[in-house]
Amino acid sequence: MNGDRVRYLKINENKNGEYILYWMQESQRTKYNFSLNKAIEIANSSQLPLYVVFNYIEYPEVQKRHYDFMFQGLRDVKNNLKEKGISFIFLTGNLEENIIKVSKNAKIVVWDKAYLKFQREAKKRISNKISSTIIEVEGNVTVPVEVISSKEEYSARTLRIKYKKVKDRFLIEFKDIEYLKFEIKNKKIEKLDVSKMYILEEKEVVNNDFLGGEIEARKKLDYFIKENLKFYLDKGPDNERASKLSPYLNFGQISPLEIWIEIEKIEDMIEQKESFLEELTVRRELAINFVYYNKNYDNWYGVTYNWAYETLENHLQDARKYIYSSKELENAETHDIYWNTCQNEMVKIGYMDSYMRMYWCKKILEWSQTPKEAYQIALFLNNKYFYDGRDPSSYAGVAWCFGKHDRAWKEREIFGKVRYMNSDGLKRKFKMQKYIEKYTK
Ligand SMILES: Cc1cc2nc3c(=O)[nH]c(=O)nc-3n(C[C@H](O)[C@H](O)[C@H](O)COP(=O)(O)OP(=O)(O)OC[C@H]3O[C@@H](n4cnc5c(N)ncnc54)[C@H](O)[C@@H]3O)c2cc1C
Repeated sequence: MNGDRVRYLKINENKNGEYILYWMQESQRTKYNFSLNKAIEIANSSQLPLYVVFNYIEYPEVQKRHYDFMFQGLRDVKNNLKEKGISFIFLTGNLEENIIKVSKNAKIVVWDKAYLKFQREAKKRISNKISSTIIEVEGNVTVPVEVISSKEEYSARTLRIKYKKVKDRFLIEFKDIEYLKFEIKNKKIEKLDVSKMYILEEKEVVNNDFLGGEIEARKKLDYFIKENLKFYLDKGPDNERASKLSPYLNFGQISPLEIWIEIEKIEDMIEQKESFLEELTVRRELAINFVYYNKNYDNWYGVTYNWAYETLENHLQDARKYIYSSKELENAETHDIYWNTCQNEMVKIGYMDSYMRMYWCKKILEWSQTPKEAYQIALFLNNKYFYDGRDPSSYAGVAWCFGKHDRAWKEREIFGKVRYMNSDGLKRKFKMQKYIEKYTK
């Protein structure tokens, strides 16, 4: 395994440790899972059993659909681990207390690297209270965030230059390590498992577009390669040519490296491949760079550039032809049929085409009293409804609409020099009537 994905946060092996523990949280999969591989490698060399634990937390603002999607995925995890001879322990309740408790008798603890504040802060608090060795593994990016750059990057252009210099070391085949199965079981940890009550229960299928789990993720990838990649340059709301892999990436149900490898195997479709991989690598990892180095990635006063704040401020007093409340927007009650359609799409299926996401957010800026209010509404709706919400790309995507990672454009009302979008572009590029018919209530 390439060393830069693996980091020892603490070295203090618990000599009496009875097992190796992998706390799975951000990489909810068994394939192309660098953390799992590392944990298996250590379990084999120390001849100790391996336990994989997951801790379920309820977030009040999140929809039931997110949990259904996650549980579908955890069912795959449990079954696939069983095939490998590895026990899966599903915990619920207080994350910190639980992880500290199950780490007590562990010789070594392995966990996934995370990028968002709440995940990193929880890991930091837990690491302060665990005395054994902790190994953090970075498996949800094609190139580790700190290897690409040691600071917040200005734009896709600046990140791309750095990414290209280091990518070849990381864009390499992944090899599964076989677990040698150590049967000595630990009753204490096994008693904590409540997976029977949760993830084995068959959930009602709410959305055929998005069934969760690594098996579904792989089906989506294969379908995309077979049917849609050749049309990727024409992707849009009327044709569904994009991969729809973002929900799976968000829950760690598929590895971006696996996607990269499968796309690279294709010999033709050079332009389509290049365009797709630019999104999967540069754009996605720019978003990770943003949340990793910018502590204020979710706070209006920290999300964009001074030129953007200044120009928006200069246009605060501009007359707004339409102003909608957060509720009116959530209920898709605007004068704009295109906007209402994409808002309905978001609420109905938890996904939206990338071009429509830009239009959607730009219009919230245009129709809100202030840019700050617009930012807060957009982020709230984004994270409430999208399967891929609360992802680094959620924060970077919404911030982009307010000038982040973009340049100044010709000055105009309300937006100032921040890029503007209107429905003419939609009508020119896409068959909007087809899209409207699909999602109108
Ligand atoms: C206002 C706004 C909000 C957004 N909110 C989210 C969000 O909540 N979660 C999210 O994952 N993405 C978000 N994006 C980025 C992008 O629109 C989605 O990642 C993409 O539409 C997901 O669909 P797909 O998987 O079919 O994309 P594809 O076109 O098939 O792209 C493949 C993968 O590349 C990555 N990718 C594509 N475009 C971007 C981008 N602009 N920035 C970062 N990564 C990208 C995603 O991981 C995606 O799954 C947002 C963009 C905007 C403008």
